[in-house]
Amino acid sequence: MNLAIMKNDATMKDVSAVIARVEDWGFTAHLSQNDAHTIIGIVGEGQGDWEQIRVLPGVERVVPVKHPFKLASREFQPENTVFPIGSHNVGGKGLLIMAGPCSVEDRSQIIETAIACKEAGAHVLRGGAFKPRSSPYAFQGLGEEGLKYLAEARDITGLPIVTEVMEPGLVPLVCDYADILQIGARNMQNYALLHAVGKAQHPVLLKRGMSSLMEEWLMCAEYILSHGNKRVMLCERGIRTFEKYTRNTFDINAIPVVKQLSHLPIIADPSHATGKSEYVAAAAKASVAAGADGLIIEVHCHPEKALSDGAQSLRPEAFAQLVREMRAIAEACGREIE
Ligand code: PEP
Ligand code: MN
Repeated sequence: MNLAIMKNDATMKDVSAVIARVEDWGFTAHLSQNDAHTIIGIVGEGQGDWEQIRVLPGVERVVPVKHPFKLASREFQPENTVFPIGSHNVGGKGLLIMAGPCSVEDRSQIIETAIACKEAGAHVLRGGAFKPRSSPYAFQGLGEEGLKYLAEARDITGLPIVTEVMEPGLVPLVCDYADILQIGARNMQNYALLHAVGKAQHPVLLKRGMSSLMEEWLMCAEYILSHGNKRVMLCERGIRTFEKYTRNTFDINAIPVVKQLSHLPIIADPSHATGKSEYVAAAAKASVAAGADGLIIEVHCHPEKALSDGAQSLRPEAFAQLVREMRAIAEACGREIE
């Protein structure tokens, strides 16, 4: 990918002329524009002479993007991507707090948990209706029935819903009920699924694969962006290492690294990253200090009865206490939790 960096006084006509020329050569153009800059990202398999672009009116310079991810890179878009989720923004000063059970288990469970999470300060309700379980004999989720209960919980609390979609064919159904589409760690490189959510109109929470490099993860975000969906959040949920005491190893490095490489919001999932409720608060608070744009935390009113991930789920009281502590840390770091 090359970037055509436009001069401050470039007109829309100048921009259109550059786009027309590169499209004529067989490239695709993506525009990144705000008050401070206009950058045209030029991708694809076209053929042309970049010197001809450099001399067009309004063009300041033409530079290659050094990373393999292009639209996801800070070079293409220097400022943070910020977009609304319900009545909050993600990617700006405020942190987005998502909480709820691992799985939707029944109607009263999700409604009771949603009310408790909202009271404790959550902005978004999580809950899986389609569950990627390592055992075919484990609870697989309630499917569409679970989506209906989530929608009811949203009606009662006003909290937007984030829930996992596991296959391309189910994207339209999940979009009918959910506000945010979660791509699970196991599906990070399911390219047909990335294509389908890239065509959808909903924001996407893209979890990092458990054995994935940061670059591979950003390339998966690139798939979604390149299909037209710009509202992508990246989620660090722990990676596999030799350490067995915790379920995964929380790669806190991913937070500052992703912030440097990409303009996309980065969310921390301390629940899957640690796998044990007694470590969740420490990992959550570290994420806030490290610069995360939000968190997704598993909360269950009765963790001992949970059908999935009870061991890593916080009770609502512990979650409420954690939100208070995270708020103080956010403020100390120039951020806020509303
Ligand atoms: C989940 O959010 O419950 C989940 C299955 O997460 P992950 O894909 O990160 O394992
Ligand atoms: Mn879970």
